[in-house]
Amino acid sequence: MSGRTAWILADQLSADNPALEGADRLLMVEARLRPGKVRFHRQKLHLVWSAMRHFAEEKRERGLEVDYRTAATLTEGLRHHIEEFDPAGVALLEPNTLGAGERLASLDSRVEIVKGSLFLTDPADFAIWAEGRKQLRMENFYREQRRRYGLLMDGEAPAGGEWNFDADNRQPPPADQSPPKPYRPREDGIDIAVREDLDRLSTEIEMVGADGKRIFPATRAEAKRALASFCSKRLPEFGPYQDAMVEGERFMWHALISSSLNLGLLDPLECAEAAEREYREGNAPISSVEGFIRQIIGWREYVWGVYRWRGREMRKSNALDAHSELPEAIADLDPDATEMACLSDVLAGVRDTAYAHHIERLMLLGNLMLTVGVEPGPATDWFHGSFIDGYEWVMGPNVIGMALWADGGLMMSKPYAATGAYVNRMSTYCSSCRYDPKKRSGDEACPFTTLYWDFLERNRETLAANPRMTLQVRNLDRIDSAEMAAIRDQAGRLRTTFSA
Ligand SMILES: Cc1cc2nc3c(=O)[nH]c(=O)nc-3n(C[C@H](O)[C@H](O)[C@H](O)COP(=O)(O)OP(=O)(O)OC[C@H]3O[C@@H](n4cnc5c(N)ncnc54)[C@H](O)[C@@H]3O)c2cc1C
Ligand code: SF4
Repeated sequence: MSGRTAWILADQLSADNPALEGADRLLMVEARLRPGKVRFHRQKLHLVWSAMRHFAEEKRERGLEVDYRTAATLTEGLRHHIEEFDPAGVALLEPNTLGAGERLASLDSRVEIVKGSLFLTDPADFAIWAEGRKQLRMENFYREQRRRYGLLMDGEAPAGGEWNFDADNRQPPPADQSPPKPYRPREDGIDIAVREDLDRLSTEIEMVGADGKRIFPATRAEAKRALASFCSKRLPEFGPYQDAMVEGERFMWHALISSSLNLGLLDPLECAEAAEREYREGNAPISSVEGFIRQIIGWREYVWGVYRWRGREMRKSNALDAHSELPEAIADLDPDATEMACLSDVLAGVRDTAYAHHIERLMLLGNLMLTVGVEPGPATDWFHGSFIDGYEWVMGPNVIGMALWADGGLMMSKPYAATGAYVNRMSTYCSSCRYDPKKRSGDEACPFTTLYWDFLERNRETLAANPRMTLQVRNLDRIDSAEMAAIRDQAGRLRTTFSA
């Protein structure tokens, strides 16, 4: 037996990965055949493989022996490594995906799972906080995180006098301002090799989306540049326009750091601290900085905690008994298969960049799937495969809990269902669309509006019991029975053969 191996998975690419401590060599396995239902975006596969290969290259340059292998599965990669190197031990940081640690440890007695994660929150602490609560409120969790990490705190009080500045945010798109161009990494020889491999594999692996120059960071150095560029150029406007959507503007003032955080290239605390520095130095207003820090130490950590606490049950839940198929336009990322201006533009964005910002994911794609009644499993697989930052831990809470309310309200006090009026208020789409956001039925009716009223009616009994939905459900009674029948009819067609 010779030496100790550190086995590093694709989403553990941090120099602080504790498995690296005392390691004599590195094992990384690029798993090529992924059996299962998830079809991955080509740019997602490109980023993950490019980041893994860059990480291996950096470690090699620093003198560490590296065994980087391609294999059909992780299991096969490990087996071949053990046959060739006969290591005394293989240290692996506990994988993020539930059950994966046990499965990989059972492959060989030399695999030791190192406890920990690249998140701030220990799942055991989260479970203690969550246990016994009927509903989990992110806001309560977030305030405790602020105190725990001393972020945006003036002594015991929140900086700026409030914990949450959401009321100052959520503005519609500005008429006279365009977002600055985001940081772009430069591709290198590793990217060229990855692209050649993907070209070759495209006949074996079913992928979605278009190829394109790599947009998101693949190394720690690139990720740090992306964070610095966001903090200096985009953070000041991040808050107010966080929810706004503009035709053709793919990134608005968003940070574009989720893929880097999820790969392990950035540390959540360093992102929050970098943003706080901008506030303390007077470069960015409290509303934007607080809004951003809430996303990082609040939402992201909360989603991680919920997944580790209830992820298994969540994956099976379907509280609204939804069984429709995913609309083909969405499944195939085909912007030409819909006349809805908003949907078409966002699908073009996902096809070309593997990215859409939070409100596009929640209030366009999620809202449509919720009101169509798409089955949660396929919806979750679609989000997982189509986005640059998709991983299992982030899917359950965001898709099943937040977007589809399939957990029956464990996470969100009410479903995020909205008519075209919301999209009209928060975007520039409706003026160029063939549909009218105000119309509920008829040829010009906005599909969001038709589906919204049908959704309320179909789920009336469940939703009427929810105090936060009482008013909306009561509004159903203001629609006369002839129009309700027309809405039901039209929504029924949309739900079975989505063509809009
Ligand atoms: C239906 C749906 C699917 C989603 N799928 C993913 C996904 O696959 N991977 C993913 O990382 N995020 C996902 N999110 C959360 C969020 O939309 C993305 O993290 C964000 O859009 C990434 O872009 P950004 O880096 O520009 O984020 P910004 O808007 O600039 O936000 C800053 C950071 O906050 C974190 N964050 C904010 N909200 C969340 C959240 N709800 N969950 C996790 N992190 C959050 C992210 O790390 C993000 O980088 C999803 C949300 C919804 C509603
Ligand atoms: S009218 Fe409806 S479908 Fe058209 S852009 Fe507006 S919200 Fe989207």
